[in-house]
Amino acid sequence: MGSAKENLRRYLEIETLLNRFFGLYDFCLKKCVLPELARNGNQPFAACCKDKYYKVYDLEHPSFDLLRDERVALYGPPEEVKDSSLVSPCEYHTSTGCVLPTHKSPICLAFMCRKSIDGLRNDYGIYTYDYLGFNYALEWILTGDLSLTDYEEFRQSCLDMIDTLEKKSSPKRVASAR
Ligand code: SF4
Ligand code: SF4
Repeated sequence: MGSAKENLRRYLEIETLLNRFFGLYDFCLKKCVLPELARNGNQPFAACCKDKYYKVYDLEHPSFDLLRDERVALYGPPEEVKDSSLVSPCEYHTSTGCVLPTHKSPICLAFMCRKSIDGLRNDYGIYTYDYLGFNYALEWILTGDLSLTDYEEFRQSCLDMIDTLEKKSSPKRVASAR
């Protein structure tokens, strides 16, 4: 059980790794968002952001309060987002997707739909991404209920997935680096 500040620091460290992971995987933009925009004539659409997920599943806990406070300090309160798409109940959803580069709530950070998980399995042989498991792990990091050992294991599993994506995405670069 760390302080709320220490729990958030760990959470943000994992968020940085997951952002790297999703940046490399890039399934949502290429296989979901761009095809849908081409199909619907560039109309904004909500995709999986169909609720105010930045808060609906948040727990009553000081670390969650701190996460929200820092998010608002960095990116403003949801009701003041200028480019809100109005196609999603979530104000942070704009015509170009989510405006939050960091400080997302656990469910927003962890969520992958079935087709994106299937893509991860079929294209990269990564079977370790269980979105509910990731969601709970992120919640427990914030509440301080994930032990340091489990935290390190979870962190390593994120690094392993990144490694797999990097190797499969640029085999020539990796081969020449050996
Ligand atoms: S998680 Fe699934 S529904 Fe959501 S943007 Fe990605 S591909 Fe689309
Ligand atoms: S905060 Fe971002 S990821 Fe979460 S529901 Fe809103 S737009 Fe989607």
